[in-house]
Amino acid sequence: MTGLRFLDGLLEEAIGLHGDLVRLRRSIHRRPEKGFEEFETAALVEKTLAALGIPSERVAGTAVVGLLEGKRRDPAVGLRADMDALELEEKTGAPYASLVPGLMHACGHDAHTAMLLGAAMLLSQRKSELEGSVVFLFQPAEETTGGARPMIEEGVLENPRVEAVFGLHVGIGLPCGRIAVSAGTVHAASDMFDITVSGKGCHGAYPHEGIDALAAAGQVVCALQTVVSRGIDPLEPAVVSIGTIRGGSARNVVAESVRMEGILRTLSPEARRLARERIEKVASRAAEALGARAEVRFQEGYPCLENDPSMAVLVRETGCILLGEENVLEVPRPSMGVEDFSFFARERKAAFFTLGAGNPAKGIVHPAHSSRFDLDEDSLPIGAAMLAGVALNFLQGR
Ligand SMILES: [Zn+2]
Ligand SMILES: [Zn+2]
Repeated sequence: MTGLRFLDGLLEEAIGLHGDLVRLRRSIHRRPEKGFEEFETAALVEKTLAALGIPSERVAGTAVVGLLEGKRRDPAVGLRADMDALELEEKTGAPYASLVPGLMHACGHDAHTAMLLGAAMLLSQRKSELEGSVVFLFQPAEETTGGARPMIEEGVLENPRVEAVFGLHVGIGLPCGRIAVSAGTVHAASDMFDITVSGKGCHGAYPHEGIDALAAAGQVVCALQTVVSRGIDPLEPAVVSIGTIRGGSARNVVAESVRMEGILRTLSPEARRLARERIEKVASRAAEALGARAEVRFQEGYPCLENDPSMAVLVRETGCILLGEENVLEVPRPSMGVEDFSFFARERKAAFFTLGAGNPAKGIVHPAHSSRFDLDEDSLPIGAAMLAGVALNFLQGR
């Protein structure tokens, strides 16, 4: 662990930025914005980077990409933060609560943005010593359709070529002051699917003259429960959920069509392929048995998020130096939730880690996506130091 002198004093310096980071986080928190509508947030990011002498450009609508060039342009390391809020009414009663009805930063992306700006502050102080560049990736729409992919398509990982990407997510289940990181799969892949069951409408008194799409849809929902329980290796995690079902028009009319929306979550490409196949087959055959027709349409969601083993080690090593070995944990098991950082991880060596932001003593216990979600703001400088630290470790430690 010695020989990483460039990390000396980094956390203390970050703690010195506490007030600035809290102000940034709260101003973003007050003005939450939906995916691809992060106009004010992006403007604040651009303004803050410009004040640090870091040029930036706008891509993919509301994404902001900053470039800090050191002694030379290559190699480059990427640091990513997401900026979007959720459609949720805030109920924290905090003095900095959302001023926008129906929108709330309930996943901590306000903090992620402030932390990455904090990392930019720390790294810009070291510009003349950097053995390469740092690319700051402020991305939109993590919660909805995903901003990472359009950013990559617009070339944010090229020129300079980004060799590795790091990102973090706050975790309320993990106490402030700790991080968790693991090699391998840490987040699931998702696929959204819509099923349309078509029958033949008729008078409810003469059901034999029609084909009841509702009765068929009921069979489809039940049969889909076997996709995982009978179709996938029991040691392989997978979830198939139908979240909505809509159909029929009146109590005395046999329904002509029913529409369902669902999500498939898997942790391996093999389970993903198998489950997709079986969903199509099971839905269509179950409907067919009742004379109806089921059509399944898949829309590809986010891929599995896999941490590169050597990059996970780099995060762990940085955490041990900055926070102490006792505060660096393994991720206990992968999450069936998704994270579109996975698109960056699919393109480059990458590691994504959890940053502790919970604090029961301060009443900070409500999980992400809760209307009472909040985070310990003491995690802001720690996140900034960790992001700056992994970038330094990548560039200077080789
Ligand atoms: Zn979220
Ligand atoms: Zn999130």
